[in-house]
Amino acid sequence: MRRTSLTVPFFDLSRQCAEIRSETLGAIEGVLDDQAFVLGPGVARFEAALGEHLGGVHAVGCNSGTDALLLSLLALGIGPGDEVITTPFSFLATATVIPRAGAKPVFVDLAPGTFHMNPDALQAAITPRTKAILPVHLFGSACDIESIVLIADHCSIPVVEDVAQALGTKVRNRPTGTFGRLGCFSFYPTKNLGAFGDAGAIVTSDARLESRLRTLRVHGQTGRYHSDAPGMNSRLDSIQAAVLLAKLPHLARWNEARRRHAAFYRAALAEIPFLSLPEETSDIYATYHQFVVRAEARNALAEHLNRRGIGHAVYYPEPLHLQPALAASGLRPGSMPEAEKACREVLALPIFPELRESEREEVVLAIREFSAKRS
Ligand SMILES: *Cc1c(COP(=O)(O)O)cnc(C)c1O
Repeated sequence: MRRTSLTVPFFDLSRQCAEIRSETLGAIEGVLDDQAFVLGPGVARFEAALGEHLGGVHAVGCNSGTDALLLSLLALGIGPGDEVITTPFSFLATATVIPRAGAKPVFVDLAPGTFHMNPDALQAAITPRTKAILPVHLFGSACDIESIVLIADHCSIPVVEDVAQALGTKVRNRPTGTFGRLGCFSFYPTKNLGAFGDAGAIVTSDARLESRLRTLRVHGQTGRYHSDAPGMNSRLDSIQAAVLLAKLPHLARWNEARRRHAAFYRAALAEIPFLSLPEETSDIYATYHQFVVRAEARNALAEHLNRRGIGHAVYYPEPLHLQPALAASGLRPGSMPEAEKACREVLALPIFPELRESEREEVVLAIREFSAKRS
C-alpha cells in the first residue's frame, strides 16, 4: 500500500469546520450587521452562556487563555515579592504568567503516576509569601482540586484554576473551573471549544473580582480615559464570541465523542504490557482534550508510529522548572523527578471528536504491532 501522508491525522480541524460551516458563517455575518467588533453585545451573550453552562458563574471574556491567567493574577493583586505555587508539567503559559505579574513561580511535583500536582507536596511549599495556588487540569482530566482547595482555604490563599484543557470536565458533578476563586479558559482553535483565532475567558463567583477583571482587560479604565491600575488590552472580539456561542451547544456532544474514543483505546490497549494508560476515576467526568499514554520506550514507539503514518505528539517534552524562561525558580534537573519522568514517557494519541472508528483501529493495530515486535 502506498502511503503518501499520514494514515491517521493527530488532529484535523477541517472535519469540524465542515460540520458547522454555515452556522458559524451565519454567526460571523451577524457581527458585520451589528458593527460592534470588540466587546459588543455578542461578547456579553457568550459570557452569559458560558457562565450558565458552568452552573451560574460570572464569565469575563478576554484575548487568550494566557491573558486569562495573567489577568487573574493581576486581579488578585499579585506582584513583586509574592510567590505563586504551580505545577512543573503543563503548557508554558501556566507558569510564564507568574514572572510576567512580577511574582516568583514555586513548583510542586506531580503525584506519582499522575499528571497532576501532589497536594501533600503543595502543603509543604506554602510560605508566608504564597499569594496564589495555580493548579492545572491537564488533558481534559482533573487535578485533586478538592484537596488543593481545602489546603488553600485553610491558609486563606486563593486558587486560580488553569482550565484551558478542561472545559466540560467535572469532579463529582461540579465543573472544573468553579472550585477556585478564578477559573481560566482558553478557546485556542485546538481546545475542546475552539474559536477561529485566539480567545479566552475567566470565570468567578466573586462579583468584586469580576468587576476588577472587566476593568483590567481595558487598561484599568474606570472612567473615560481614566485608569486606576495599569491593566492591559485584552478584549475578546465579537467575531470570536459569535463563533464560540454558535459552537457551545455542540460541546457536550463533542466531549462525549472524545470519551467514546478514550473508552475504545482503554479496552483495546489494556493488555499491552509496556504501556500505561491515563488514570480514570469514577469521580471525574474527563473530557479527553488529549489521550496521553506512558511508555519507557516512548521514543521507539513514536518512531514506529511515524513509520506507520499514525499522528502523535509529546505533551510536554520539557518540564517548566527547567525552562530558561523560568530560571528564577533556581531548580536543577532531578529536583522534580515525577514531572521529569513524565516528560520522558508521555505520548498523545489521536482523539479529536471527528476521529473515525477505522482510524482509531489503525492506531491500536500499530501499537499492537510494536508490542509484538518487542516481545
Ligand atoms: C492552551 C493553554 C494555555 C494558554 O491558552 P492560550 O489561549 O493559548 O493563550 C494555558 N494553559 C494550558 C494548560 C493550555 O493548554
